[in-house]
Amino acid sequence: LVTQQSQEEMIRVFEKNKQLHVDGKSDMAKLIVVSLSLQPILSLAVRYNLSPDETAHKLSGYFRMLGADLVLDMVVADDFALLENQREFVERYRAAEEAANSSEFLPMLASSCPGWVCYAEKTHGSLVIPHIATTKSPQQIMGSLIKDHLARELGRTPDSIYHVTLMPCYDKKLEASREDFTNQQLHTRDVDCVITAIELEQLLQRDNQSLASMDSVQLDFPWSKTLPSNSALVSHQGSGSGGYADLIFLHAARELFGNSHPDLQYKSLRNPDFREVILEQDGRILLRFAIANGFRNIQNLVQKMKRGKSSYHYVEVMACPSGCLNGGAQVRPQDGSSPRELTMRLEAVYESLQKQVPEENHTVQELYSTWLEGAHSDKCVAMLHTKYHSVEKMTTALNIKW
Ligand code: SF4
Repeated sequence: LVTQQSQEEMIRVFEKNKQLHVDGKSDMAKLIVVSLSLQPILSLAVRYNLSPDETAHKLSGYFRMLGADLVLDMVVADDFALLENQREFVERYRAAEEAANSSEFLPMLASSCPGWVCYAEKTHGSLVIPHIATTKSPQQIMGSLIKDHLARELGRTPDSIYHVTLMPCYDKKLEASREDFTNQQLHTRDVDCVITAIELEQLLQRDNQSLASMDSVQLDFPWSKTLPSNSALVSHQGSGSGGYADLIFLHAARELFGNSHPDLQYKSLRNPDFREVILEQDGRILLRFAIANGFRNIQNLVQKMKRGKSSYHYVEVMACPSGCLNGGAQVRPQDGSSPRELTMRLEAVYESLQKQVPEENHTVQELYSTWLEGAHSDKCVAMLHTKYHSVEKMTTALNIKW
């Protein structure tokens, strides 16, 4: 994993590819696609004193200089993940209402943090796994989009594409290496290499470069012939550190109880990294959601579940204190400020972006019919959902060579 998911490996692939083009062997070269997630873009924006959009364009220029063919943002994957999580929650809630034992289906626990998912698989497999949402993380949905949809559109095989993601933590490398996200026949992964914000900073420092001095290049948009009317980066309602709880709560309130404007006021319990929000009607609690960041809060939550004392319907569980904006491989504070101060600054930048409503993403709606054969199809399950395993069964695909 260390050598196969490192900046050195990525640079080796870029250089080998360039050489193939020089040698007139372009047919053997890979199509190199880089997907940029929002949290490291914001981290690098603050590091290099650029706006988020400038940062994305500079990253696009940098990766193209290295030899990337396409550089994309991950809004389409984020919106698929949000929509599928919303749908999955409502289905679980309805199933719980009909079941004799509602704790079979609820709480639903977030699935996009591999730090949390690996911990759950290793330590609390049978108790917790049935509760983790089956929806893939945005990184892995992006993997399906690139290695299935884009590969077909371009008439390529998945192994002829090298897919790099830019992420906020090292745990995303573990996620990308899971057997579930590996095509065993073709010996290729949906995400071939994960680079973190801090590794990107190291690469630039190694070459005495600054992101600010890179050419600005627009991001690519290979999903539809119709370009979105606004190509600026977008955020979603909720925190930039995870951010699913708000939209799932709003969707569930509307879908299940016809309440389109619920009060979304979180209350901190015990510490700022454990917050809860409730939807109440006539003294009855209809929805009880929580956000639990960091292992101390996760352990408390799991203990409660073990004792049958958890009354939550949904918990957004993220392994890092303060969530992904404070991810373990985000760029460290440069000016002596504390990690929490930096996270607050990143959250403010996230807040300043235009908000996107996932249901209004026309590209995603189009892809549901053109790529996935409808919202509830088998293909939808195969491309957007996954399974979890207790540690005995979990293996990682570390033997893949490019
Ligand atoms: Fe990675 Fe931390 Fe975010 Fe989990 S919370 S996905 S470990 S950055």
